[in-house]
Amino acid sequence: MKLTTREKSALIMEAFVTIVILLLVNLSVIVILNDMIQTNPGLQDGIFIIKRSMVIGPNHYQLWSWENIFIGLMIAADAGVVYWRLIRRYHQMQLRHIIDELHYIANGHFDHRIPFTLKGDTQRVVTSVNALVDSVISSIEDERRIEKSKDELITNVSHDLRTPLTSIIGYLGLIEDHQYHSEDDILKYTHTAFSKAKQMKSLVEDLFEYTKMRQTDTPMNISKIDINQMLEQLAASFELEAEDKGIKVSVDIDDKPLQIEADAEKLGRVFNNLITNALKYGDGGHNIILRSKPVSEREIQVSVENDGSPIPEASLKQVFERFYRVEGSRSKATGGTGLGLAIAQSIVDRHGGYIYVTSDNEMTRFIIHLPVKNGEKIEHVQPKISPEENREE
Ligand code: ATP
Ligand code: MG
Repeated sequence: MKLTTREKSALIMEAFVTIVILLLVNLSVIVILNDMIQTNPGLQDGIFIIKRSMVIGPNHYQLWSWENIFIGLMIAADAGVVYWRLIRRYHQMQLRHIIDELHYIANGHFDHRIPFTLKGDTQRVVTSVNALVDSVISSIEDERRIEKSKDELITNVSHDLRTPLTSIIGYLGLIEDHQYHSEDDILKYTHTAFSKAKQMKSLVEDLFEYTKMRQTDTPMNISKIDINQMLEQLAASFELEAEDKGIKVSVDIDDKPLQIEADAEKLGRVFNNLITNALKYGDGGHNIILRSKPVSEREIQVSVENDGSPIPEASLKQVFERFYRVEGSRSKATGGTGLGLAIAQSIVDRHGGYIYVTSDNEMTRFIIHLPVKNGEKIEHVQPKISPEENREE
């Protein structure tokens, strides 16, 4: 820590004043003692005896005179007092510097830290203050991020609710104002309003599901399930819808069951969204493959894969963000909310697993890793998400 010129002068002044006071005190002590010795013959005798006893050797060499010892002791005491007063003053100055720094930080300079190093306990105060500021700043940043993300959520929800709501009000308004020519018109308007209302309901339900899955205290209905059986049932249930689009849904699984402890309904929701996505967005594709395999005794891997148009590389990292839809999907008549993959990720997270996506001209693969036992968490192995990275190997 560097002292300012003013502080240096204050220290010099302190030393000077202390020395002057001590000299005066010393002088008074000497005068009083001298006076006491002069007026007290008993004391004089006592001093004489002590003086005689302090001689060394046969020549009666006097090592220290009584006066010298006394003056020496007084100088040592004086030096101690001066040192103590200067150190005390110096510590006060250090404290003032620390307080000034704290005020500076508190005035909004949150990237500032106390820059100087001190000795002993004062340094521990500085280190603690810096650590405290660090943790306060990181909490403020967390708070801001959460606040921002909540604001974004509200903006997205209100936008996605307003669009269908505007249509509903528009069509119902036409009926209300008798702006129709036939019963068919009324039916057409109510039909549109009805489907828009259903779209709103689906958004609200998705949002509810999403926030529910993000809350760690939402109960899970865990049971032993056979993933292979689940995939077969899913493939069968999507068969007709896929056939209409010229797509074949197939499964690539072992003959024997692949059992894990999980919430069947929630996992079903994850696969439903992945297969629906493959049907909706895999333009030009002909195949959807549901695959599963054990990775180790405690981990399994399940994937939903489809050919057709790939997810652009720039979007791969974002598809799991809530409300994110790849450019063009929003304008398509696919009617999604962009919450499906965010919900899927939350559900997989709650199971202690992880999900990622890879996509190239051949295949788009959503790959899920899940622990076999409920309550276990498996380590997320960094996936290779871009085809370029894959090719580098
Ligand atoms: P929701 O599932 O909430 O109805 P959504 O399907 O648009 O809406 P997500 O399931 O989160 O939302 O998907 C996000 C985006 O990722 C989609 O809009 C789409 O652009 C892209 N996507 C997802 N799966 C695929 C896929 N298999 N092939 C190509 N693009 C995909
Ligand atoms: Mg979806």
